[in-house]
Amino acid sequence: MNNLRKTLIILMSTLLFACNSGQKQETTSEKKNQEEKKDNFKYLVEQFADLKIMRYQVPGFDELSLEQKKLVYYLSQAALCGRDIIFDQNYKYNLLVRNTLEEIYKNYQGDKTTDDYKEFVVYLKRVWFSNGIHHHYSMDKFMPGFSNEYFKELIDGSGNAEFEMPPQQLYDFLLPIMFDPTVAAKRVSLDAGKDLIKASACNYYEGVTEKEVEAFYAKMKDPDDPEPISYGLNSKLVKENGQIKELVYKSGGLYGKAIDKIIFWLEKASNVAENNLQKKTIDELIAYYKTGDLKEFDKYNISWVEDSLSHIDFVNGFIENYGDPLGLKASWESIVNFKDLEANHRAETISENAQWFEDHSPVNTKFKKDKVKGVTAKVITVAQLGGDCYPSTPIGINLPNADWIRKDYGSKSVTIENITYAYDQASKGNGFLEEFCYSKEEIALSRKYGSLAGNLHTDLHECLGHASGQLLPGISPDALKNYSSTLEEARADLFALYYMMDNKLIELGIMPSLDAARSEYNGYIRNGLLTQLTRIEPGNDIEEAHMRNRQLIAKWCYEKGAADNVIEKKTRDGKTFYVVNDHEKLRELFGELLAEVQRIKSEGDYEAGKKLVEDYAVKVDIDLNKEVKARFDKLHIAPYGGFINPVLSLVEKEGEVVDVRISYPDDFVGQMLGYSKEYSFLR
Ligand code: ZN
Repeated sequence: MNNLRKTLIILMSTLLFACNSGQKQETTSEKKNQEEKKDNFKYLVEQFADLKIMRYQVPGFDELSLEQKKLVYYLSQAALCGRDIIFDQNYKYNLLVRNTLEEIYKNYQGDKTTDDYKEFVVYLKRVWFSNGIHHHYSMDKFMPGFSNEYFKELIDGSGNAEFEMPPQQLYDFLLPIMFDPTVAAKRVSLDAGKDLIKASACNYYEGVTEKEVEAFYAKMKDPDDPEPISYGLNSKLVKENGQIKELVYKSGGLYGKAIDKIIFWLEKASNVAENNLQKKTIDELIAYYKTGDLKEFDKYNISWVEDSLSHIDFVNGFIENYGDPLGLKASWESIVNFKDLEANHRAETISENAQWFEDHSPVNTKFKKDKVKGVTAKVITVAQLGGDCYPSTPIGINLPNADWIRKDYGSKSVTIENITYAYDQASKGNGFLEEFCYSKEEIALSRKYGSLAGNLHTDLHECLGHASGQLLPGISPDALKNYSSTLEEARADLFALYYMMDNKLIELGIMPSLDAARSEYNGYIRNGLLTQLTRIEPGNDIEEAHMRNRQLIAKWCYEKGAADNVIEKKTRDGKTFYVVNDHEKLRELFGELLAEVQRIKSEGDYEAGKKLVEDYAVKVDIDLNKEVKARFDKLHIAPYGGFINPVLSLVEKEGEVVDVRISYPDDFVGQMLGYSKEYSFLR
């Protein structure tokens, strides 16, 4: 299997909070803004360890038809039924650990006010969050904040607990698993030189070596097959009586009890499918779950990619291979979603006017396209998360993973707006704006327009920026070599920034006021010159293309506008701020730089491109870098985040489903215990 895993776009919240004032990741719409103001919806629920637990809303759910709501409900049930699978895949004893901890939580009779007990609860929450005893991101085993002696006390003090073994035996068994840092130290080890299977705690192999696995699958593969099967994707490979064999995930096979429940709900979903193609897609998935036949899985993926008309969509299956050091085995996950019509309308409006934007850009006419076609971004709203996508979730989907299907049939690539929006909202009140904005006006502007402006920037960047401009005849698209991605991102950002301040956006009805643009300009400069530095270790250069591009633009404009004081560096109480004094002039500077970057691309002027990047985008002022990191540290912003799911429930009248209601619980522990009670099929 190739290493270029396309996939669910994983979001690190570290990236988000650094960008959360008018940068890319936040996305929303005005309507949602109004809804939430009305509700005063609480996005951030709680924080522990390095994690924050949030909630997301599902705007648009109430407008779905009854049949569509039922479909979302059935698919959501299917999404929850695989929860135990991911625990077991992550590590063989995760379910035993989870069950033990939950029994203690429900039955312990001792003092629950002690620090030890609080540490026990934190550990349990971390196990829930990570779907096991390893950190969801670093893959390292995390250690309890209490002693093994206290653990013994907890077991002995939980008289009515339904443990899976007698108490002493259970304690002895779990002692090394939970408390010995050398046992199952890493879920996925990519340490070349070691046997990766032995070095990894994940549960995709047992009793086999890396070499044996490679030989086993090499025999299956046909290198000439134009439609190669993803061998090994849905199975555990074991050695039994000296024989290597696959235990396939399917009805009647490994995880069969959970898979049967998934099938049960998928069959109900099939009955209320929106159209024939969607029904066919669901039926093919059912056939795959019943047989474990990976050819069926490919059929399902092809139908899934071809279905672009259905309003409701979903992912459900063994999809991503990050959890396997050899990249063969896929973890179980699910996402249920529907189209965000309003956001898609916004992107369509921009795309439909692509030619106007191209014609009016400040770029030299010979570098412009006579006929430009805007790209339409696709945006979805998530209604339920499951398996490997819960509670920690991606912000986008780009599937399927099989290269030949992508090549022959295409792929779906979408961003999830209600999740990014929730991230953004949850970060409000974390002190970020207060710390890095110079004035109250700047904070107020960002609060009011930050999300909307960030969305518009993203749309303009994606739908128009990358699509604009042309190379002169004979110029190679590779001419800018290692500087090309930074310059390409700069080009798209500059196109977006230039038009943010244009009345055309107001005329098109997608921006309420130029104040939104001012908010975006403030946030962009603040991030490019200041806040993004939190992601750089002092002493290092900036490497990542998007970060380079942002500093390039911000620093260039700061320098070029110095004579007119367009952007001003200020200090207060030993803290550095960058303040935009003249937004109109800044717009002119964006336009000037856009014209130059487009010229560099169109002419393939490598030397000029190199100079621009090296002069403005790479080097960091180490003192400022340290200052920014220290200011972030004081804010205690949890670097990782995950979500509580909304609850869908059927409203029945005389045996008929008449509605599906959605509610938003804010109790992380309650949801986890509830899931363990209702959706535990593997113990
Ligand atoms: Zn881009």
